[in-house]
Amino acid sequence: MSSTGSKDGVPTNHNSKPLPSVPEERKSSRNKIISIFSAEKGGRKKDKDKERPEISPPSDFEHTIHVGFDAVTGEFTGMPEQWARLLQTSNITKSEQKKNPQAVLDVLKFYDSTGNGKQKYLSFTGVLCPNHFVFCTPDTPFTPLNILTRPSMIDPIPPPAASGDTDSKAADRQKKAKGRMTDEEIMEKLRTIVSIGDPKKKYTRYEKIGQGASGTVFTAIDVATGQEVAIKQINLQKQPKKELIINEILVMKELKNPNIVNFLDSFLVGEELFVVMEYLAGGSLTDVVTETCMDEAQIAAVCRECLQALEFLHANQVIHRDIKSDNVLLGMDGSVKLTDFGFCAQITPEQSKRSTMVGTPYWMAPEVVTRKAYGPKVDIWSLGIMAIEMVEGEPPYLNENPLRALYLIATNGTPELQNPEKLSPIFRDFLNRCLEMDVEKRGSGKELLQVRPRSSCSSLSPWYF
Ligand code: ATP
Repeated sequence: MSSTGSKDGVPTNHNSKPLPSVPEERKSSRNKIISIFSAEKGGRKKDKDKERPEISPPSDFEHTIHVGFDAVTGEFTGMPEQWARLLQTSNITKSEQKKNPQAVLDVLKFYDSTGNGKQKYLSFTGVLCPNHFVFCTPDTPFTPLNILTRPSMIDPIPPPAASGDTDSKAADRQKKAKGRMTDEEIMEKLRTIVSIGDPKKKYTRYEKIGQGASGTVFTAIDVATGQEVAIKQINLQKQPKKELIINEILVMKELKNPNIVNFLDSFLVGEELFVVMEYLAGGSLTDVVTETCMDEAQIAAVCRECLQALEFLHANQVIHRDIKSDNVLLGMDGSVKLTDFGFCAQITPEQSKRSTMVGTPYWMAPEVVTRKAYGPKVDIWSLGIMAIEMVEGEPPYLNENPLRALYLIATNGTPELQNPEKLSPIFRDFLNRCLEMDVEKRGSGKELLQVRPRSSCSSLSPWYF
């Protein structure tokens, strides 16, 4: 059994080997990302670079660790200390470990790579997929899936800071070395995307309605049209991954659909970014699932609307990757819309349990948590989990230790309902199609929108989309 990782976060063997060249897939991904973000990146600085070639720090190297499992003692051997500690507190029983030691390793590696569940968006390593689908959320902005082949969880050693460097200069040097846009380049790019003008003059009667991890949300009135809008104000200085914000604006600008919270405009005032969106006064679906009991007709209607959004996204090669009730907003006219296209931010400790669970993988498909190839059908799995939220008020395993929840997602297959007999056969059939382990057999958005019962059922069923 082998896996990769770092020993106490410190790569140990990089001196003894020649530096590997950048893998082909990674090179091509760079080109694609750069072509989206900046035409001038290689231009202005090119001559300077020619004169003074920079030696980059080692990157993409891999520290392979070999973990064994002794079936007799039921103990892992060679496991990094950090993982052993995580496992000890995970509540994954010895017999569960014995039953599927590979799944234990898979989820440990996954959990470790997500900063122990503390990151809002989970990073993925070693994922390979033949499709050219695009993420619109995580730390791989606008990245075609098939190039997500970062082989190592170990960060390259940062280049030494030249004397006289400020912190931000040093950070920019590191970003450049990693092929990422510097803060300055991001601000430059943002200025080309946003509208010119003062949002405080174009919109009036600002009223705070919410606080997210990345910024504050207000309602306001468009002075020119009288339309009520939602405005998210984001302090860019506080954003660790500013490129995701560009990503989100670009994605939202492109994707207009009745089942998506539509982007209206954006402005930059100093370091403050204002993103103007449609306002949905009904709040999030989470409020509904936690406070009320939804009947099947209501659940079916929400599923249909979300499937329409997913069909549209997937047809546009976009995987949402964060489908859950928190990211479904409701309008007073009955509209149901998907939101949250990837403002990446660290969660704050003040948030409630459900919020602090953001980015933890209760909604995630088994192929994601076991770090296998995956495509748009991960959104369909998450929709199935969201349907369970609508029935039971919360997703399966919410009260489990996150690492054990991962293990259960990886090994249990389709989660079981508390009272399946209370649901109609066609609803159970729909859930089974969403929560099918075999990705090939799992329904696509398009297929599920044409859902038909396998067994005879009343033609008045709300599940006849
Ligand atoms: P982040 O995306 O920054 O991590 P978040 O997902 O926790 O944060 P936000 O998207 O910032 O939250 O939203 C904060 C609050 O504002 C939430 O309660 C959300 O329901 C509400 N909200 C956000 N956008 C809109 C909108 N377009 N219409 C109505 N309410 C909205």
